[in-house]
Amino acid sequence: MNSLLWIVALLLIASVVAYRQPGRTPAAGVLGAALLVATLGGLSLWFALPLWLLWVAFAMLLHADDWRRQYVTKPVLAFYRRQLPVLSDTEREAMEAGSVWWERELFSGQPDWERLEGFADRPLREDEQAFLDGPVERLCARLDDWRITHVDADLPPDVWQTLRDEGFFGLLIPTEYGGKGFSHRAHSAVVMKLASRSVTAAITAMVPNSLGPGELLRHYGTDAQKEHYLPRLARGQDVPCFALTGPQAGSDAGALPDIGVVCRGQHDGRDVLGVRLTFEKRYITLAPVATLIGLAFRLRDPDGLLGGDVERGITVLLLPADTPGVERGRRHLPLDVPFQNGPIVGRDVFAPLEWIIGGEAGIGRGWQMLVSCLSEGRGISLPALSTGVAKVAVRYTGAYARVREQFGLPIGRFEGVQEALARIGGRCYQMDAARRLTLHGLDAGEKPAVVTAILKYQLTERGRQVVNDAMDVQAGSGVMLGPRNIMGRYYQVMPVAITVEGANILTRNLIVFGQGAVRAHPYLLDEMLAAQDDDAEQALDRFDPLLLAHAAYALGNAARGFWLGLSRGRIAQVPGDGDIGRYQQRVAWLSAAFAFAADVTLLVVGGDLKRRERLSARLGDVLSELYLASAVLWRYEQDGQPTDDLPLLRWALDDCLARAGDALDALFANYPKRWLGRLLRGLVFPTGRPRGPDDEQDRHVAELLLAPGDARDRLSAGIYRSRDTAEATGRLEIAAELADAATQARRALRGALAAGADEDVLAQAQAAGVIDAKQADVLAQYEALEREIIAVDAFAAASLKRGA
Ligand SMILES: Cc1cc2nc3c(=O)[nH]c(=O)nc-3n(C[C@H](O)[C@H](O)[C@H](O)COP(=O)(O)OP(=O)(O)OC[C@H]3O[C@@H](n4cnc5c(N)ncnc54)[C@H](O)[C@@H]3O)c2cc1C
Repeated sequence: MNSLLWIVALLLIASVVAYRQPGRTPAAGVLGAALLVATLGGLSLWFALPLWLLWVAFAMLLHADDWRRQYVTKPVLAFYRRQLPVLSDTEREAMEAGSVWWERELFSGQPDWERLEGFADRPLREDEQAFLDGPVERLCARLDDWRITHVDADLPPDVWQTLRDEGFFGLLIPTEYGGKGFSHRAHSAVVMKLASRSVTAAITAMVPNSLGPGELLRHYGTDAQKEHYLPRLARGQDVPCFALTGPQAGSDAGALPDIGVVCRGQHDGRDVLGVRLTFEKRYITLAPVATLIGLAFRLRDPDGLLGGDVERGITVLLLPADTPGVERGRRHLPLDVPFQNGPIVGRDVFAPLEWIIGGEAGIGRGWQMLVSCLSEGRGISLPALSTGVAKVAVRYTGAYARVREQFGLPIGRFEGVQEALARIGGRCYQMDAARRLTLHGLDAGEKPAVVTAILKYQLTERGRQVVNDAMDVQAGSGVMLGPRNIMGRYYQVMPVAITVEGANILTRNLIVFGQGAVRAHPYLLDEMLAAQDDDAEQALDRFDPLLLAHAAYALGNAARGFWLGLSRGRIAQVPGDGDIGRYQQRVAWLSAAFAFAADVTLLVVGGDLKRRERLSARLGDVLSELYLASAVLWRYEQDGQPTDDLPLLRWALDDCLARAGDALDALFANYPKRWLGRLLRGLVFPTGRPRGPDDEQDRHVAELLLAPGDARDRLSAGIYRSRDTAEATGRLEIAAELADAATQARRALRGALAAGADEDVLAQAQAAGVIDAKQADVLAQYEALEREIIAVDAFAAASLKRGA
């Protein structure tokens, strides 16, 4: 064997050792033995000598601890310290908020599938289900979204009253304070169902239950504050809003200029210590009707009345909206979806210190409170809203594509339309899977900040894509607004979901991987903390084992990335079999590739990653797609592996994996060092990237949306379903059920028509025995529905004139 072949063989053996991670001594032993065989077997001395030196260095690195600490770990630690990004306090607090959950498995390069299978998807509690089937169902039946959005530009007074009376504003408030004490699953289910009927109603019910006074009080309020406010909020006696954003402080909310100066003042006829506030807020949901404002501001104590520093940091207090100096009531109009939203201005407003959430202990803790509540809430509200919208598209745009015919066929039978329908169905399956898996984590007490950021970004973004596809399928019937339109308002509202709770560009580019890398990486955060240790010896002691473990982890992932890439995941050991097992293997492949790419990127780009947002965004995309893929696998198993859902499972997973592969490929293509990018691409994709769903898969998914069936019911579970043929969705619901029978009758009838039947076609056809009475009835009913379904609204010109 010539030397080149020996070197290739040695490299392969080294990669297998890195893949298997047998431990320090066996690793050095196997490599030494392999080198010995190669040397004796004819490896040229020119190669053998440097390789033996390399082997000695490697063996010393693993075994000569003092030498390693002095000559390897110490310089690496010094380099590490130079590379450490300088974090602002707000960034550090955001990074440390919440917990780390399933995302760490994806970062490990070898996800523990049995752990995932152990997450059991529990059904709703009896009282939660009863609330959905009772008050939510009844409220949905009463909601007339066209009236709300076009005529009244608000919910009708009786709906507001129902929201208060039935406890919609206190879903999460514990029962001891008069709330419902619901789980996050139930909260999500309520928002999803309302959103399928009226986004205005959904947002109105959602906001008091997400980041705002209720949640802040629940977690951080003093006992007195909880006892006073929580029952009032639960009853809807107080309507809350949360005011953080202002003209200067949008995405960079921590830079808010609103100031509260500590001073003495009059409150309830007493002279008390308090704050004098000046603030300007905008975009605040429920502000025009709120009675209680959760206000974020910067606290200053220039006269030292509290003792200590002048700048006391971001603080949140509860401000009754009728406090003198507060101006609110004006409304913004967010893209014609008229949930209450508007500015709030405060001039010379005096608030006693006891209004600060958490009392004096809450001073300066506002940012931490907000980030912590946000890292939970953003995994619930907007994902529920977006999934509800996607389910409406599945059920009703699917039905529309069956009923609407052109060129003599339902439009849903054309391949081009099927492509859009498949994306609607497949993405909805991914979204609901991720929603359910995340709710499981949240209900189990996790606060996975990275996962909830993934959910916020990915589900609102996929929701937007689903709506865009649905609009294309609906075409004119999607564009013409009116009571018959089922998609237009969703099309209008999606940019709102994209913007709030961390606008999507920011969330994708800065948060998912920017914070996720440090939180979810098995070693990074500990290394950073060790490097920040002021005691140099102690820092070295802490850093050394981490460095060793990190190096083994990185080499292991490089080797796994290569071997799994070569086999397209086939050699990964996974518990599943059949489709499930094969997909687990492919996720394991990309997980190893991701973990390796993340490490190399952090090494190459280091602290500059904050500036190279797009590299960070692509790594975040890979992590997000792998999370969604795990959720899809989990969902399929939780649903009992229904065979009908296989097309959805395959489409959803192939799509996630292809997107993850594309994101990695784009990362490598944009690497600061191009040669390194090419090398990495060759290493993890030696046989090419994963492929997305093909035309046949698209067809299978589209077919599921076109006709009633269990898969379609599961895919759209949890939305409001009308059977009232006076309503657009009710007509589609019934027409979808009649479509196949009506088509058969029509076919039979066409034969009759060809035989010369003309006037009263149905009667003649019946008389001639071409169709029976039942078929005639179905056809008559179907054709009446069809006429209504393809009709769009037209208005008297004067009625479209808006008031001043
Ligand atoms: C309908 C609606 C309801 C809202 N409700 C509330 C509420 O109840 N309470 C409240 O306090 N706030 C609320 N907001 C505010 C919302 O959270 C902010 O709008 C949001 O934070 C974005 O701020 P901005 O619109 O000023 O955008 P900007 O901050 O001006 O951002 C503009 C664009 O730049 C991007 N961007 C900014 N910085 C970066 C960066 N470093 N890297 C990459 N991209 C970046 C953003 O992603 C965005 O796409 C609401 C907003 C809307 C529209």
